[in-house]
Amino acid sequence: MIKKIQLHDKTFVPFMGSEQIQSAIENLGKRIQKDYQGKNPLFIGVLNGSFLFVADLVRTFEGDCEVSFIKMASYEGTATTGTVTELIGLKENIKDRHVVILEDIVDTGTTLEKIYQELIKDQPASLEIATLLFKPKAYQKEIPVKYVALEVGNEFLVGYGLDYDGLGRNLKDIYIIH
Ligand code: 5GP
Ligand code: MG
Repeated sequence: MIKKIQLHDKTFVPFMGSEQIQSAIENLGKRIQKDYQGKNPLFIGVLNGSFLFVADLVRTFEGDCEVSFIKMASYEGTATTGTVTELIGLKENIKDRHVVILEDIVDTGTTLEKIYQELIKDQPASLEIATLLFKPKAYQKEIPVKYVALEVGNEFLVGYGLDYDGLGRNLKDIYIIH
């Protein structure tokens, strides 16, 4: 019997179990360990979706590192500006730091590009992106996504931090829309 999950009006079926997620994160963690040990990297998680990925990934890292979070806030601007998105929450000075942005999922790359452009202004020593999930067929930007735990198709996923209209973030496994 396939375990179906109902969130609001949509049904989801299992896509990837927690063991497979954890092993993909461990593999990614090894690459990051190799590239960043001794550099005191600053990991910046993008809320809300990345909170579980950040928690599991940073625990694979041995040695000094710092962990922080940012959020893209959108609000209604003026008639001419329309909806404005703004990066909030960063307190650290990232100049000359080795920064790794931690994302739950990169789809078209629109969100990521905005974050990248904001952070690069502050002149970090290096700036890379690590994402749990990457949708290569949907990606439309030039910014290289160096660290990808899992490549997936274009279908909508929930669980392990990812939500459907607020629900599903607490699921241990990842589910796909039915
Ligand atoms: P992008 O700006 O790369 O097109 O989209 C990134 C954002 O869209 C993600 O941070 C996430 O909030 C949302 N998103 C894209 N694909 C999915 C998906 O399959 N499931 C969920 N839950 N959110 C997604
Ligand atoms: Mg997100």
